[in-house]
Amino acid sequence: MESTEYAVVGAGLSGAATAWHLAARGHDVALLERSTPANDAGSSHGSARIFRYAYPEDFYTALVQEAKAGWDELARLSGKQLITPTGAVDYGQVRQPERLAAVLAGRGIDHELLSAQAASERWPQIAFDTQVLWHPDAGVIDAHESVASMVDQAVAHGAQLHNNWAVASITAANGGYVLTSEDGRSLHAANVIVAAGGWLPQLLGSLSLPSSFLSAIPQIQVRQEQAYHFPYADQPDQAESPWPTFIHKRAGWQAYGLPGGRDADFRGQKVAEYNGGKILPSAADQDGQIDPANRRRVIEYVKQYMPGLIPEPYAETTCLFTNTPNEDFILDRVDGITILSPCSGHGAKFAPLIGQLAAGLATGTASVPDQFRLAAQAGHVEAGAHA
Ligand SMILES: Cc1cc2nc3c(=O)[nH]c(=O)nc-3n(C[C@H](O)[C@H](O)[C@H](O)COP(=O)(O)OP(=O)(O)OC[C@H]3O[C@@H](n4cnc5c(N)ncnc54)[C@H](O)[C@@H]3O)c2cc1C
Repeated sequence: MESTEYAVVGAGLSGAATAWHLAARGHDVALLERSTPANDAGSSHGSARIFRYAYPEDFYTALVQEAKAGWDELARLSGKQLITPTGAVDYGQVRQPERLAAVLAGRGIDHELLSAQAASERWPQIAFDTQVLWHPDAGVIDAHESVASMVDQAVAHGAQLHNNWAVASITAANGGYVLTSEDGRSLHAANVIVAAGGWLPQLLGSLSLPSSFLSAIPQIQVRQEQAYHFPYADQPDQAESPWPTFIHKRAGWQAYGLPGGRDADFRGQKVAEYNGGKILPSAADQDGQIDPANRRRVIEYVKQYMPGLIPEPYAETTCLFTNTPNEDFILDRVDGITILSPCSGHGAKFAPLIGQLAAGLATGTASVPDQFRLAAQAGHVEAGAHA
């Protein structure tokens, strides 16, 4: 049986980042992916995720600042622009622009708080309904290219990428673990990092996790989200768009949008209802079908709030959210198994940092924020269970 020091399960943004950081530290790494890196069935495909500093909690804004250093390093190593600067606008009663502005001010991050009127003059393509937070250092992450770049870095440091290697079970053996694939192959690993995205709920029961650890994992909800590309009314065919990313939160409805980049032929804004998709038992139950009622809701939203878009989507996609109840990530370890779930719809921007934290936790060389550990999320984990 082949063996490795660290097996990383899943090559989305989280697993790719973890494999990169482990391999760069000189460890022997096997990256096992049920399909291919950043495949369309996961959460890390395509060219558009919002990179922003605006969070209502200082905790996450500080983490974005840390993550940015990792993005800069990855851009330098890959020679690619992985984040396209666009700036971001955040607005709506529930979004609380003033609160976001206070957090950014506390962190010394460039921003402006504008009246709805002033914002409408600057971005006539958007109809604002409250004050608006603008911060110019936000942008759009090319998720697919980012995964590819991190996998390249991992492989350059000696990691082995195994495509089409779907882990079915993990069993404790010989001071480590035996990973068995759905088609009967096996691999021995001293340590395992599980970064399986929306497949995590279905895998949890097959990982030989102690029951105290398993029961402390919060409820994980997988949603099949939907996003639509709407053409710009006044600027077809522009690779560089003056459109910012936006997050608009009102009571009962949350929308976000961003220049869609390559996925949208550089000629439209990707717009979606946040948490607007159906709940699935697990990623394996997704059907990739758009719900017509959701499409209609988003079209109506665009008609009302996005005068700069033609309200006829020319492309659409589904993608998986993997939500914890409070949208915190899960990053914890028991014995030689590290569990990693930085989804909840906002994990992409942290990817290089999440990989660094996961590598530190898995190697026992660094701790991770308490907020990501199960003890903080679900009450109590048996003393001594954590490495
Ligand atoms: C529509 C949408 C919009 C988003 N917008 C933003 C945004 O604007 N800003 C932001 O910061 N974040 C955003 N996110 C969140 C971000 O994209 C996710 O946090 C991130 O992609 C999660 O990556 P992951 O590696 O954890 O999961 P995934 O990308 O799903 O990767 C998991 C991988 O594991 C593999 N796998 C699963 N099971 C097995 C197995 N048994 N064996 C081997 N391999 C396995 C899968 O094939 C997959 O490749 C968005 C997500 C979605 C879906």
